[in-house]
Amino acid sequence: MQKRNVGIVGGGPGGLTLARLLATRGIGFTVFELDEHPLARPQGGSLDLHAESGQRALREAGLEAQFKALARYDDQYDAIYDHLGALRFEHADASGGDRPEIDRTQLRAILLDGLPEETIRWGSKVSAVEPLPDGRHRVVGAEGALGEFDLVVGADGAWSRVRPLLSREKPAYTGILFIELSIDDVDAQHPGLAALIPRGKISAVGNCQGFIAQRSSNGHVRAYVMFRVPEAQLEEGVVDLSSPAHARAQLKAMLPGWAPSLLAFIDGCSDTIHARPIVALPVGHRWAHRPGVTLLGDAAHVMPPFSGEGVNMAMLDGLELGLRLSEVSDWSEAVAGYEAEMFERAAEAAAGAMEGLAFVSEDALAHVLGHFASLKPAAE
Ligand SMILES: Cc1cc2nc3c(=O)[nH]c(=O)nc-3n(C[C@H](O)[C@H](O)[C@H](O)COP(=O)(O)OP(=O)(O)OC[C@H]3O[C@@H](n4cnc5c(N)ncnc54)[C@H](O)[C@@H]3O)c2cc1C
Repeated sequence: MQKRNVGIVGGGPGGLTLARLLATRGIGFTVFELDEHPLARPQGGSLDLHAESGQRALREAGLEAQFKALARYDDQYDAIYDHLGALRFEHADASGGDRPEIDRTQLRAILLDGLPEETIRWGSKVSAVEPLPDGRHRVVGAEGALGEFDLVVGADGAWSRVRPLLSREKPAYTGILFIELSIDDVDAQHPGLAALIPRGKISAVGNCQGFIAQRSSNGHVRAYVMFRVPEAQLEEGVVDLSSPAHARAQLKAMLPGWAPSLLAFIDGCSDTIHARPIVALPVGHRWAHRPGVTLLGDAAHVMPPFSGEGVNMAMLDGLELGLRLSEVSDWSEAVAGYEAEMFERAAEAAAGAMEGLAFVSEDALAHVLGHFASLKPAAE
């Protein structure tokens, strides 16, 4: 009998966790990834991997040692400021916590390490997935067919090309816009900023606006300034990203009353400035099971990033799906079981993530301080 195989569309954290699981269980697969190579674009900032999801996935995929060698336990430091620059909460001695940080690029490298080269098709933009008469599915790119598979998994993020086979839903804008800033070599080039963010992450809220700055490795800081922006205004462009100097001036003007110590992150940022409208699928998004195709991660349940669950959920999906495919011989039954459990888990995480939108609201400070107060006993 011909060996069954899986086509994975998307080589993000979710797709690569599934790939790694399948590789360790002897199941054939091919990953189709848009990026030309693993470092083709900055993968984004630092991620905290949770014990019961992201870390568990790495452990069961045999990658715990590689993770522990890079995980930054010290970077669990957290501090909350109000927009006037007053410190309102500090979790200074957080290194004993169980949500260590890792750079996205490092996480991708760990997941890729040991996967046979020919299993990842870099530079492959999938445009559609088509059902075949025998129950298999064909993955199609701009130049034609890329392959035929017993199971196709859409792990291709918020704007999935696989999702339309299963669901009519599309992500909707939540009304919150992040402007992403990067600060390079913070310790040497910007000692004032480095002193404000000695480790981990700091946040500030006020005036219905928000700010988060977080350390990655090698003295890099990624920061987000957050605004409530109506959808119609998004299309006009909120800041002039074609001119970094103009964008900096506009951003500072959009933050009246904010402390100079916090605005200094805008002065110190590099010319790489991005707008990230925050989108989400409806809480509880699900579909009727269809043999031969499924979704995981953001393709299934993109949610606002405030609770830091997105990557953790995507990796847990990859783990759970991979385990079921290796343990249940009827793959339709395996996928249906995975979906039923994932829908419940994702609905709960997405509901929590939607509550996080309060980070950019009139009563954000009370909301954030309340959140930390509720975590305190566990953190100490
Ligand atoms: C501003 C921001 C900050 C965030 N911060 C955090 C955080 O701190 N912690 C956290 O847990 N989550 C965070 N998230 C969410 C997190 O990024 C996602 O939940 C997570 O990356 C989902 O993983 P994934 O593998 O499902 O999808 P993705 O990471 O989106 O990966 C999808 C992959 O598919 C590829 N792809 C896309 N389309 C195609 C195509 N047509 N053909 C082939 N390949 C394709 C992409 O290149 C990509 O590699 C944040 C999100 C945003 C927007």
